Amino acid sequence: MTDSQMPAQTAAAPVYTVPQERKIVTAVPGPKSQELQARRANVVSAGVSSALPVFIERANGAILVDVDGNRFLDFGAGIGVTTIGHTEERVVAAAAAQLQDVIHTLFTVTPYEEYVRVAELLAEHTPGNWAKKSVLVNSGAEAVENGVKIARKHTGRRAVAVLDHAYHGRTNLTMAMNYKAMPYGAGFGPFAGDVYHAPGSYPYRDGLSGADAAARTIGYLEKVVGAADLACLVVEPIQGEGGFMVPAEGFLPTLQAWCTEHGVVMIADEIQSGMARTGRYFASEHFGWEPDLVLSAKGIAGGLPLAAVTGRAEIMDASHPGGLGGTFGGNPVACAAAIAVFEAIEENDLLAEGRRIEATLMSGLERLQQRYDTIGDIRGKGAMIAIELVEPGTRDTSKRPNPEAVASLVAYAAQQGVLFLSAGTYGNVLRFLPSLAMSDELIEDGLRVLDDGLAALG
Ligand code: PMP
Repeated sequence: MTDSQMPAQTAAAPVYTVPQERKIVTAVPGPKSQELQARRANVVSAGVSSALPVFIERANGAILVDVDGNRFLDFGAGIGVTTIGHTEERVVAAAAAQLQDVIHTLFTVTPYEEYVRVAELLAEHTPGNWAKKSVLVNSGAEAVENGVKIARKHTGRRAVAVLDHAYHGRTNLTMAMNYKAMPYGAGFGPFAGDVYHAPGSYPYRDGLSGADAAARTIGYLEKVVGAADLACLVVEPIQGEGGFMVPAEGFLPTLQAWCTEHGVVMIADEIQSGMARTGRYFASEHFGWEPDLVLSAKGIAGGLPLAAVTGRAEIMDASHPGGLGGTFGGNPVACAAAIAVFEAIEENDLLAEGRRIEATLMSGLERLQQRYDTIGDIRGKGAMIAIELVEPGTRDTSKRPNPEAVASLVAYAAQQGVLFLSAGTYGNVLRFLPSLAMSDELIEDGLRVLDDGLAALG
């Protein structure tokens, strides 16, 4: 398809400003990206790395266009941010209109309606049928920080618990909450204290039922921390950076019941898994989990920076006035974009699109798994799917992690115009986080590239 052969738009069809297909016209990275990379090396901290150093000039729907004119099929969506599509038309229109009206006042100086509307929408769409309130902030890590702050204030307790393989951010407290030292924490300490890492549920590797995994987690918390000192337990319903682990049935509700019994605030970090990413508004819903507090970020505002802590009104109101906030938190433009995201999810039935993507990806990956014994596990929900790669011949025995295969596949796909992301504690997970705008044809196209890459591994 050339630019002039784009499909005719019907009234209901999204209007794409970039052809929805991949096309590689230079080496990857191309000459202009290489030039920019050289400039970048002079002035951007080496601590900020890029998975694929092609510089992006435009993005629309499921496609990234780089400065050399290459078009990439985007299976990363900015790590699960542009869930409803790049430069989605409603988001663009709402943000542009808001830019004309008011860009900033600071809600804690003079409020505006958009902040209130986002809080109403979050109260409506987060799990749990009870009175809820929110605070809006700028980033996922800041939402985690605030969730912990609020839980401590509410309980008057000190300790914070997380699960093995967790990822919660790059601030001082959240670094202490991450599982992996490298690259997130190494050399950046000392870290915040009173953070405890309990075992979680990783069915592929621990083989435990939800009840057994929960008993192990609770046993750890009771022995090592003591429920009476525990303010909160923070859990990603599907672990993101850890490798898209889907917990065993019953694990999360059992932990919530224990937390409720002992006055511990249980917090769902839905920063990666929330906002229609998994075919539900929030991934917790898949597991029958109704968390006390829910953290949102990433996909909430279609690419603009916004994050939230939402939860039980009595917990959220524990803070004294002035205890929560921040200069840019709940910025009007980001809030206008978030309102447009909620509208797009409803009006375009995007939860169904998540289920469509799951069906297409899962069946394609299962076909590949039959042919390649390096694919150990396939897991995830909606448009949050991953494969865990193991050394050939170990799939039914030791399941030895194969990070080299993931690195090769990511590099191979990039050359073909497909952006795949890696993940996993052992670096051996290939994750698929496409936008809900990605058609089945494009997913199949990406799977063909993956197939070729797997064949090339030998
Ligand atoms: N929690 C989870 C589950 C995440 O996936 C991330 C980001 N990858 C964060 C927290 C941190 O979010 P941010 O990068 O916006 O601070």
